[in-house]
Amino acid sequence: MYTTKTKKNSTSPQSSKPFFAPAIFRQKEAGEVFPGGPNTPFTQPGSTYSNCSREQEKAIKTSVNRARNLVNNAINRLNQGVAVGYSTHFGSAPMQVVEARYRNISRDLGNKKFICSDCTNEDKEALVKEEIPSGQLLDPTHICGMGQCPGNTIVLCPDFFSSVKKENESKKKNKKPRAPLNLPCPPAATIIHEAAHNDGACGDIEPVPPNYPPPNAENNAYSYEMYATKP
Ligand SMILES: [Zn+2]
Repeated sequence: MYTTKTKKNSTSPQSSKPFFAPAIFRQKEAGEVFPGGPNTPFTQPGSTYSNCSREQEKAIKTSVNRARNLVNNAINRLNQGVAVGYSTHFGSAPMQVVEARYRNISRDLGNKKFICSDCTNEDKEALVKEEIPSGQLLDPTHICGMGQCPGNTIVLCPDFFSSVKKENESKKKNKKPRAPLNLPCPPAATIIHEAAHNDGACGDIEPVPPNYPPPNAENNAYSYEMYATKP
């Protein structure tokens, strides 16, 4: 095992891992959760939380679990060949490539470097200087978060955490929310978006006509976010 240098965990969609094999017949990789598996773990032992309060760390973990469920759900739909919503968000992108990237997203959600930030322009500049090679930190103008592309760093901003709070309060009040909450930063969607950046979907074409879905939507983070949350 230690004699070869070539064996590496690849997060690339071009990984040699056969993405067409039914999940249940493959062996699990470390930290990987198969879609629909009976006991989705509720901890991410591989993730680190930088500059985060305990409350913020908890908010991230809750949101990651929700994001993972949504991503696994999307994988299940793709597995079953359910086409509803696919072309709306992915156009004619190859389904196998999209599914493979969703699998990477699901797997890698347990291995992130989360940074809690005030997301002022100064903070963002400092992050880029200290942490992230230039040009890799996407969404610098977003109020919710930023994601490295490719990489495993996700920066989360104050509006993300206030949205988590609002979502949790609403879940406590109503078992079934009557209307969409219209949060500035829907937490699970934000995580999926930045995680898609981490796994190499560096595109940022917003879900607004007429440019959506873009050509090569398999590289567009919004497509992954939207298909998983609003198929
Ligand atoms: Zn983005």
